[in-house]
Amino acid sequence: MRGLMMDRPLMISHIIDYAAETFPDQEIVSRTTEGGIHRYTYRDAARRSRQLANALKTLGVTEEDRVATLAWNTYRHFEIYYATSGMGAICHTINPRLPVDQFAYIVNHARDRYIFTDLTFVPLLEKLHGMFDGVRGYVIMTDAAHMPETSLPNALCYEELIAGQSEHFDWPDFDENTASSLCYTSGTTGNPKGALYSHRSTLLHAFSVLTTPGMNLSEESALLPVVPMFHVNAWGVPYFAPLVGAKLVFPGPALDGPSLAELMNGEGVTHAWGVPTVWLGLLAHMRSSGESFKNLQRVLIGGSAAPRAMMAEFKERHGVEALHGWGMTEMSPVGTLSQLRPQDRDLPLEAQLDIKAKQGRRLFGVEMKIVDEQGGRLPHDGQAFGELLVRGPAIISAYYENEEASAKAFDDEGWFRTGDVAKIHPDGSLEIVDRTKDVIKSGGEWISSIDLENEAVGHPEIAEAAVIAIPHPKWDERPLLVVVREPGSQVDKQGVLDYLSERVAKWWLPDDVVFVEELPHGATGKLQKAKLREQFKDYTLPQVSG
Ligand code: AMP
Repeated sequence: MRGLMMDRPLMISHIIDYAAETFPDQEIVSRTTEGGIHRYTYRDAARRSRQLANALKTLGVTEEDRVATLAWNTYRHFEIYYATSGMGAICHTINPRLPVDQFAYIVNHARDRYIFTDLTFVPLLEKLHGMFDGVRGYVIMTDAAHMPETSLPNALCYEELIAGQSEHFDWPDFDENTASSLCYTSGTTGNPKGALYSHRSTLLHAFSVLTTPGMNLSEESALLPVVPMFHVNAWGVPYFAPLVGAKLVFPGPALDGPSLAELMNGEGVTHAWGVPTVWLGLLAHMRSSGESFKNLQRVLIGGSAAPRAMMAEFKERHGVEALHGWGMTEMSPVGTLSQLRPQDRDLPLEAQLDIKAKQGRRLFGVEMKIVDEQGGRLPHDGQAFGELLVRGPAIISAYYENEEASAKAFDDEGWFRTGDVAKIHPDGSLEIVDRTKDVIKSGGEWISSIDLENEAVGHPEIAEAAVIAIPHPKWDERPLLVVVREPGSQVDKQGVLDYLSERVAKWWLPDDVVFVEELPHGATGKLQKAKLREQFKDYTLPQVSG
């Protein structure tokens, strides 16, 4: 028997309509690319999104057309999210730090019609334009006064485009499984692969994040997504913040410590989301300037493993609760969050950090299993570890127009292979051990490169660390630690090993420590272990060569 409830689709346009009606005066504040701060309200954002939707129609954009963005986190980017998806087109966010060939590949693979760009990226697009097949024009996200001279064909000014457009637009209702946005993820090899989100998956993901204990978001919160809107929809922030009427604070292009600190304290930011690298810069600034956070309560750290020392510093020095989140582009992206339980709050700090250093408990709608090499399920006992697979309504069922990648990405039961190696504890919390490609197999036992790196960066004179496997005649592989020192530090190999030997099992100790000026990072700021392995491909461990 079917239930007798209305079959109303879950639409992204309903979010902005809801926010405009329910929290009309709540603010959206942006640091702009032109310089200065822009502020308006959810009511204004909804009105301008409708104007933009009308403007897109005049440009000939129709349902299913891909409209790309190359932009920082600002109010205009927010409007594009809602206008494109709301009218039935697809918002394709592009990471401006992608290597040129990958950039051209995804514009052509997605068959982008228009590209919306911030002023910052106009020179980049001028260089790349000749490589694009089907782009009809560009919209430069600025006003007439700041329009640059450009060789880009059909370059329009955002503010002129929407000025004079009607403020009325009836957002259409259609099948909630219709595609709404597109984000490509770069693997270590091959071309980037597209995750094509739907209206339904976007709303379900937003609801799941909001219902997770520990989020604590409401109309009284001010949320700053440092995580870029070009990376998995800023982890969903632009969709779930309006649902609870939280103030949104967009940092624009200024992601350095001093700029973030100024914006956070100036705008009463209570919650901020971003990757570990960003927090490293911010915490270093707070240390050197002696400043403190005025309103900050919660920081979400994700995208790669959060060092324990970072979470300790947030708590001890600033009284800020750091949550650790794990997820993937293919998962919309949030999978788990490491919030404490009520009974954990009385634990000593070290015991709390033990919980937070893990990746946390799953969101509703994310199922997890770990399997051995034959695909057999492993117990969730906190001991066994193997490849992690997931399924759920906000997880991809295939890559966008990529049969080859899709064929490899799922097991026989349709679960998505994350490529992460993990343990699941009896209390349901996930512990990422490593990427399947990065784990070090020493004498049949596994060493987690992530754990070693996180211990190493706890050393006060180590700025960044990476661990890779080096072939070894007896043990198969042994760990090599590659370190960037803090400025002015003289710490040497023995100093590092002495520090680590108090913190990790003896057989985990790296066989060598190498000091470098910098480590390779990819477009989303993550360490590129594949590049590092390439750099050290001719390296021999001292015990082996000697
Ligand atoms: P991306 O799709 O670019 O966001 O990358 C997803 C991958 O980043 C995951 O499969 C993990 O390997 C890694 N990752 C993301 N968050 C975490 C975390 N909190 N701890 C460890 N690894 C993480």
